[in-house]
Amino acid sequence: MGEKEKVTSPNSENMDVLSSTQTVIGNALEKLGYPNEVYELMKEPLRMMTVRIPIKMDDGSTKIFTGYRAQHNDSVGPTKGGVRFHPNVTEKEVKALSIWMSLKAGIVDLPYGGGKGGIVCDPREMSFAELERLSRGYVRAISQIVGPTKDIPAPDVFTNSQIMAWMFDEYSRIREFDSPGFITGKPIVLGGSHGRESATAKGVTICIREAAKKKGIDINGARVVVQGFGNAGSFLAKFMHDAGAKVVGISDAYGALHDPEGLDIDYLLDRRDSFGTVTKLFKNTITNKELLELDCDIIVPAAIENQITKENAHNIKASIVVEAANGPTTLEATSILTERDILIVPDVLASAGGVTVSYFEWVQNNQGYYWTEEEVEQKLEKVMVNAFENIYNLSKSRRVNMRLAAYMIGVRKMAEASRFRGWI
Ligand code: NAD
Repeated sequence: MGEKEKVTSPNSENMDVLSSTQTVIGNALEKLGYPNEVYELMKEPLRMMTVRIPIKMDDGSTKIFTGYRAQHNDSVGPTKGGVRFHPNVTEKEVKALSIWMSLKAGIVDLPYGGGKGGIVCDPREMSFAELERLSRGYVRAISQIVGPTKDIPAPDVFTNSQIMAWMFDEYSRIREFDSPGFITGKPIVLGGSHGRESATAKGVTICIREAAKKKGIDINGARVVVQGFGNAGSFLAKFMHDAGAKVVGISDAYGALHDPEGLDIDYLLDRRDSFGTVTKLFKNTITNKELLELDCDIIVPAAIENQITKENAHNIKASIVVEAANGPTTLEATSILTERDILIVPDVLASAGGVTVSYFEWVQNNQGYYWTEEEVEQKLEKVMVNAFENIYNLSKSRRVNMRLAAYMIGVRKMAEASRFRGWI
C-alpha cells in the first residue's frame, strides 16, 4: 500500500503524468473493490525497453538518439500504441502513455493492451532522409519485442503515415515477409484504413455531440475553442465548422487566433504546415493562456499535457471540456471543473477514436479484405456512442466524475483478464 499512498498525496498539481495516471487507476480499482495487488500490477508497464539508435546525419556526423517502447499489460491481447517523435519525450511520459492506451482499449472494448513508444528528437530540425534513417533504426532496435501479434505501433505526435510506411517496410525486410499488421496508420496503398487520419477527431466529434445533448447545447451555433491545430485539432475544427458550430478560437505552439464571429477554418486549414502551425501568418494573435479563458460553450484541448490547471480552471467559461489531447487537465483542475458543474469528457474516452480505427486497420490487414470509409465510420460511431453512454451512466450511478468512471471501465477488463490468467 506504501506506493499507492505516496501517489495519492494531495500535491498532485506538481505530479508528472505518470503519477497522476497512477492516482486515478488506484482510485478506480479501489472503487471497483480490487485488492492492492491489482494496483501493483497495473501501476507500471510490464516491459520497458530503452534503445540507443546511431544515425548518420546529412552532414556526415553520427548522432545517437534515445528511444523507448513500453508495453503496459498484455493480458487481454497484444499491446498497441503510437510512437512519438519529440524533444521532450521521457521514459516516464512513455510509461504513462502506454497505461493510457490500455485504458482506451478497455473503454472501447478492443482485444488489446496498451503500448507506447517515443524517440527524443526534434523532427522539425531533421531532413526527410534523416527521419527515414531514424524511423528504420528505431524498428531495428525494437524488432524483437514488436510484431502483429505482440505489439503494434502507430502514429502519435510528430509522426505520420510516411513514417509508418518506412517502419512497416523495415519490419517486413527484417522478417522477410510482408507484415502490414505490424503497424497501423499506414498510407492507404500499403494497407492503411480509410478514415484513419481523421479517426481521432471523428471520435472527439461524436463525444462533443453526445456531451452537448446531455448539457442541452445545440451544436449548431455553439461556440467552440480548439487548442492545437495538428492532426487531431485541425480535423476537429473542420468537423465542428461543418456541423454548424462557430470555431471562435484555435491555436498552435506559437500563439492563438480569436474571432467571436467564427474563424475561417477552410482558409486556416489551407495555410497550416505539416506540423500544425498557422498562427505565424498573423500579426494580432493572443496567447494559449488567453485562448483557454475565452467566452465559449465547448473547449477542446488538442495539443499537449497540463493546460488546464488550478491556476486557470476557475476562469474557464465553457460548460463542456472534451479532451482530445492526452492529459491536458490536472487532477486539481478536474476537481475544480467538476465542482463548477463543467462536464469533462476525459482523454481516455474522447481520443479513443484513433486506436479504434487503428484496430479496424489491423483487422482489415489480418483478413486481407478492406472496408469503405462509410463502413469504417458506421463502426466507429457505434463504438464511440456505446463507450460514451457506458461511462456517462456509470458516472451518474456511482456519483463520480467521467474521468474516474472511464478509468473504472478501462481497468476492469484488464484486471479480469489478468485474474483469469492467474497473474493475480
Ligand atoms: P500534432 O503534432 O499533429 O499537433 C499538435 C498541435 O499542438 C500543433 O498544432 C502544435 O503547434 C500544437 N502545440 C504544440 N505545443 C503546443 C503548446 N505548448 N501550446 C499550444 N499548442 C501547442 O499532434 P496530434 O496528433 O494532433 O496530437 C495532439 C494531441 O492529441 C496529443 O496529446 C496526442 O497524444 C493526442 N492524440 C492524438 C491522436 C491522433 O490520432 N493524432 C490520437 C490520440 C491522442
